[in-house]
Amino acid sequence: MKYRIKNGHLLLYSDNKFQIKKDDLFVNGTTIEAVGGNSIKDHEKYEEIDADGNLVMPGLINSHTHAYMNFMKNSADDMPFDKWLFNKIFSVESKISRPDFYWTTLLGCIEMIKTGTTCYLDMHICEDECAKAAKDSGMRAFIGKCIVGTDLYADGYDSFKKALNEKDTYESDLLKFVLSPHSVYACSSALLKQISNESQKRNMLKHIHLSESKKEVEDCLAEHGKTPVELLTSIGFLDSKTISAHCVNLNYNDICALRKNQASVVLCPSSNAKLGNGIAPASNMLKDEINVCLGTDSSASNNTLNMFREMSVFSLINKAANETATGFSANTVLECATINPSIALNMKNKIGVISEGACADLVFVDLKSPSIFPNNNMVSSLCYSANGSEVKSVMINGNFVMRNGVLTTIDSEKVYYEINRIVNTYL
Ligand SMILES: [Zn+2]
Repeated sequence: MKYRIKNGHLLLYSDNKFQIKKDDLFVNGTTIEAVGGNSIKDHEKYEEIDADGNLVMPGLINSHTHAYMNFMKNSADDMPFDKWLFNKIFSVESKISRPDFYWTTLLGCIEMIKTGTTCYLDMHICEDECAKAAKDSGMRAFIGKCIVGTDLYADGYDSFKKALNEKDTYESDLLKFVLSPHSVYACSSALLKQISNESQKRNMLKHIHLSESKKEVEDCLAEHGKTPVELLTSIGFLDSKTISAHCVNLNYNDICALRKNQASVVLCPSSNAKLGNGIAPASNMLKDEINVCLGTDSSASNNTLNMFREMSVFSLINKAANETATGFSANTVLECATINPSIALNMKNKIGVISEGACADLVFVDLKSPSIFPNNNMVSSLCYSANGSEVKSVMINGNFVMRNGVLTTIDSEKVYYEINRIVNTYL
């Protein structure tokens, strides 16, 4: 399809700043063909979309989540982190029948689309079903089956094979696959080294939980005499293909090692706050020019996949912790949800930005929404005022997955019906 998106306020990015420009936007197939119409002939061949009264922004990128867990929101709150994970979450997950992961993942996709996320980095535990849901949703996703254990190639241990089979079956323009070792506490050093080698060999990104809780760091020090970051550095795991989620409990040397190895970091401030894991040293990371991205983590620990809320929490929690009103500006925070993830995911200038040649991943925000009206500063309003309800339409890779509030790829009533059954069965 060809679209001429007319009269919208476009959220553009140049010289490290977001700015608004009222102009037309031309979409041809999967990509943005032109910002402004001077170079376009045959305007009549484009379907016109009136975007007057809309802010048209690049889709938000949720850089760490487990979409399939969305049915668990508010089912395990106010519990200590290790009890929450080992006694509650792992126990529920182990009971779920495979086909049900399809529905639970779609529930995650519904929430993300409706709140302006067009791309997510997913760590899941059920190959095929989670990828199939991502495919059917029309979302852009980077997907990895969670890998735990001691030896990637051990007899009878087929997580790695399954992860690769899933990649062969589902990889497309929209779906890419990553290697997802769970953490230093769920994977042996030997296994992490094997994954690192496979990542080099296959040119695949690596996605891992890192230094999430104090206990993780203490246990790692007791077992290896190294912090989790030092351990990963010592086996050559950290590099520009590494996307490390959480990174809450870091010392200064850890931060230097992340920077030196060009690893990206995904901060999940709501999840870390809720589970009592603390506040990541984001100020030092940004100062040291680490590529900082934002993620919601799962709905079992957040309890939402709403990136607008995550941006707001990230800014406010860090302003408070650092006693600064000027740091963690709306511009910086928005970069962490758009530009920076595009670098982490090896999609720079392709996603997270409105520019010629970029993928047509666009979110239409209704500027007359009470939460953001009047529009005194549209960049600020996205960080501090928006709650996701302002999102009117969402286009991913040139296709509308939601148009004027109506989902076009997912039958939400069918999903809610299945989720009610799943909740009654497992929770
Ligand atoms: Zn996680």
